[in-house]
Amino acid sequence: MKVLLSRDVIQARVAEMGKEIARDYAGREPHLVCVLKGACTFLTDLARAVDLPLTLDYIAVSSYGAATKSSGEVQLVKDLDQSLDGKDVIVVEDIVDTGLTLNYLTNLLRNRGPRSVKVAALLSKPSRRLVQIPVDYVGFTIEDLFVVGYGLDYNEKYRNLGEIVVYGS
Ligand code: 5GP
Repeated sequence: MKVLLSRDVIQARVAEMGKEIARDYAGREPHLVCVLKGACTFLTDLARAVDLPLTLDYIAVSSYGAATKSSGEVQLVKDLDQSLDGKDVIVVEDIVDTGLTLNYLTNLLRNRGPRSVKVAALLSKPSRRLVQIPVDYVGFTIEDLFVVGYGLDYNEKYRNLGEIVVYGS
C-alpha cells in the first residue's frame, strides 16, 4: 500500500506538536483524554513529547452506522475513569473526518466542569467536514483518502504499522 506519511515524518511532527502543547500549557498540568482505539499510538508518542507533568484517561465511542452517523449520534462504549472537574482537557483523536464524533465528545466533556477543552488530532480531512469543530492542534491535513496504520485500522487490522498508508492503494 502507498505510504502517505512515513515513520520519520510522523515522529518529527508529533515531537513538534508536543512542544507546542508544552509551550501553551506551561505552568499547568494538561489532562489528555485518548479516544480509543485509533488514537492510542498517537497518544503514547504525543504524551512523551510533552515536557510537562500531565495525566491521562481513556474514552471509547462507536458510531451507530451511516444513517445515525449523519445525525451525529455516537454510542459511549467506555467512559472516563476520572473526573474532569477543573482540569485542562486535551482530547487526543486519531483523525477528524465529518467532525461528528468530536462534536459529540467535546459537548459531553464540556458538561463535566473542566477548566478548558482543546483538541489534538493527528490527521484532519477538512473536505469531509459536516460539523465545523475547532481542532486546536492538527498533525497533518490530508485529502479524502481512507488511511490505516499508526493506530488506524481497517477491520481492526493495520494498527501496528509504523507509517500511515492509503488503504487498498
Ligand atoms: P468523524 O466522526 O469525524 O466522521 O469520524 C472520525 C472517526 O472515523 C475516526 O476516529 C476514525 O475512527 C474514523 N475514520 C475516519 N476517516 C478514517 C480513515 O481514513 N481511516 C480510518 N482507519 N478511520 C477513519
